[in-house]
Amino acid sequence: MSGMKKAKLVYLDYAATAPLDPIVKKTMEPFLSEFFGNPSSLHEKGLEAKRGLDSSREIVSKILGARAEEIIFTSGGTESCNLAIFGSLKNLKPGHIITSQIEHHAVLEPMQELERLGWKVTYLKVDAVGSVDINDIKKSIRYNTALVSIMYANNEIGTIEPIAEIGKLLLTLNLKRKQKILFHTDACQAPGYLNLNVNKLLVDLMSLSGSKFYGPKGVGALYVRKGTEIKPIVYGGGQEFGFRSGTENVAGIVGMAKALELITETNNSKILDLRNYFITKALKQITSIKLNGPEPRRNTGDDVRLPNNINFSIKGLEGEALMLYLDAHGICASTASACSTSSTERSHVIKSIGVKNKWARGTIRFTLGKHTTKKEIDYVIFKLKVLVELLRRSKGTIK
Ligand SMILES: *Cc1c(COP(=O)(O)O)cnc(C)c1O
Repeated sequence: MSGMKKAKLVYLDYAATAPLDPIVKKTMEPFLSEFFGNPSSLHEKGLEAKRGLDSSREIVSKILGARAEEIIFTSGGTESCNLAIFGSLKNLKPGHIITSQIEHHAVLEPMQELERLGWKVTYLKVDAVGSVDINDIKKSIRYNTALVSIMYANNEIGTIEPIAEIGKLLLTLNLKRKQKILFHTDACQAPGYLNLNVNKLLVDLMSLSGSKFYGPKGVGALYVRKGTEIKPIVYGGGQEFGFRSGTENVAGIVGMAKALELITETNNSKILDLRNYFITKALKQITSIKLNGPEPRRNTGDDVRLPNNINFSIKGLEGEALMLYLDAHGICASTASACSTSSTERSHVIKSIGVKNKWARGTIRFTLGKHTTKKEIDYVIFKLKVLVELLRRSKGTIK
């Protein structure tokens, strides 16, 4: 105990994970103590836990416009994506899949594994702001296309993809096809910002991750439209309708459902205003800086950028060094490759939108959340300006 007060950190990495909401924590607590039962047990202790599980499934399914039995709880966004992709293709002879170049690794890695198993995968190019062109999807479809997997919103540059339009296209095409094309969306970045109604989006499969919307980590959900044939990737006791065996993380699931309920009711105009303020000020005050991803708008309605996402490239800088210097000043940001564990790798997303190397290396992401204040943003812009200048002056000494 030093007795020294630790300076408050400015956390601007909400796209990596968000802090647990205190109300969520409170909702979880009984399930970490008195309601400890196994929801598969038929006695009173089991029933207590089962009630928590069932009501969570109700809550999540309502928000998605789905039925309770269409929700499978998993260990997070990664497992949901894996189950959606491997699970839906397991019964089929290797055919063709369409995805995009800017998916999260939770989608890209399963795709690469499927290629090793004989599947052909089209990785769609995106435009300069990261948008998938629906005409490219149309043109890429083959007689044996079995799955289209396009993320709802990109975790690095915040681009919102036209999921409902893609859904509509596939619905029309499926009317005259022998083999139905399934549609999966990785919606991990969407809750709180985008409409999650699966019937508006016309998706068959949708992945969510609890920790991205103030819920606990290590818990997620997969929506599976009724009639969609999937097979499990984890076998055992047959929990989650047989699609995901293993005793459920009851407290985590209860927490995720509560978090989803709370975030769905949140108005994000404050975050949007702070985002725009940050972007405008940084572009004005710092030289040789540019914004990656879609042009920010004033209203969420016509914005194709997530309200909380900011991604800059700063010419001639090393994003990693800048991130560490910011960290030393109590600011948590992220290099664009934060979601993969190897940091030397340049971001595939930044590469896909055509950012040249000189700029790409100096990429840094700030993602805001409900606790972000204008005061924090002012502090970050001030520090950013100072540190960019410092790093530029010391060029050569800092790798
Ligand atoms: C975070 C994230 C994932 C992975 O979710 P986990 O819960 O960490 O497994 C997948 N896709 C996107 C877009 C994400 O942001």
